[in-house]
Amino acid sequence: MRTFMQTIPGGVPLIIGLALICLIVSMVPIRPQMWLYPLVRQAVVLKINFQTRDMLARETPHFFIRYTERDADSVDMVATAAEAAYEPVTATLNYAPEKKTLILIYPDRQAMKGAYGWVGESNAMGFYWGGVIQILSPKAWMKNSQSVEEFITTGPLAHEYTHLVLDHLARGNYTRWFTEGLAQYVEYKVNGYEWLTAENGLSGGGYSFKELDHDFDGLPNQALAYRQSLAAVRYIAEVQGDAKLTQVLAFLKSGVPVNKAIERSLGMDYASYETMVNLWAQNNMKQYSKIAN
Ligand SMILES: [Zn+2]
Repeated sequence: MRTFMQTIPGGVPLIIGLALICLIVSMVPIRPQMWLYPLVRQAVVLKINFQTRDMLARETPHFFIRYTERDADSVDMVATAAEAAYEPVTATLNYAPEKKTLILIYPDRQAMKGAYGWVGESNAMGFYWGGVIQILSPKAWMKNSQSVEEFITTGPLAHEYTHLVLDHLARGNYTRWFTEGLAQYVEYKVNGYEWLTAENGLSGGGYSFKELDHDFDGLPNQALAYRQSLAAVRYIAEVQGDAKLTQVLAFLKSGVPVNKAIERSLGMDYASYETMVNLWAQNNMKQYSKIAN
């Protein structure tokens, strides 16, 4: 009869290795999943990098871009927009990833739908998953697919790169609403872009922060959940000051959960923060208007 060890591939060395990892993890002061998180993400990046090795490639100072023949004439624009996002995103988050970021350009929606980790809306222009920025070809959604200016201001790169930099900084220690709020805040600040619809006005009631915290992706009015997330981050940066946002990010980096990071940074409890954000949003967040849109 085979022993337990013999049934495990790698047997004794694997068990010793796992025991060592457990020992090291238990000695690290931050939460263990934050220690392992970057290793798992790095493994996913290596896997995607390998699987897309036959695609065409373009390298810029901070990015590797992979694309198909169909985007040979849009890759320059993507490269320009990615580099344009680099400085404002890293400056706002006060953090820069060590290595170059991989960007994949899918030629059409069908290709993106079949992509790694795709869970987004069918009308999305891109998404961040597994340490890689994945975007839809500008040709698939832009009116003038050669307008660099339009691509920079309305395209997905500043938004998705913010998700990526936060993921590196906080090593998974953030909530869905916080990363969506931060990504929209950077888009708003840098490009003046806001996602406004007739259904996401903040003058009435919205979701509770408990709902945003626990079921962000399951909330039926996603436009509203996103809008509230932007308001929550703008309130920190614009009312309490940029230094407070930097402090919240520093707390996340050290393993403090989002609600506690906000409480400590702003010096108010989470319920008061929710009340203040809602009050501020009613008077300060722009409303959708048919004329303006
Ligand atoms: Zn997003």
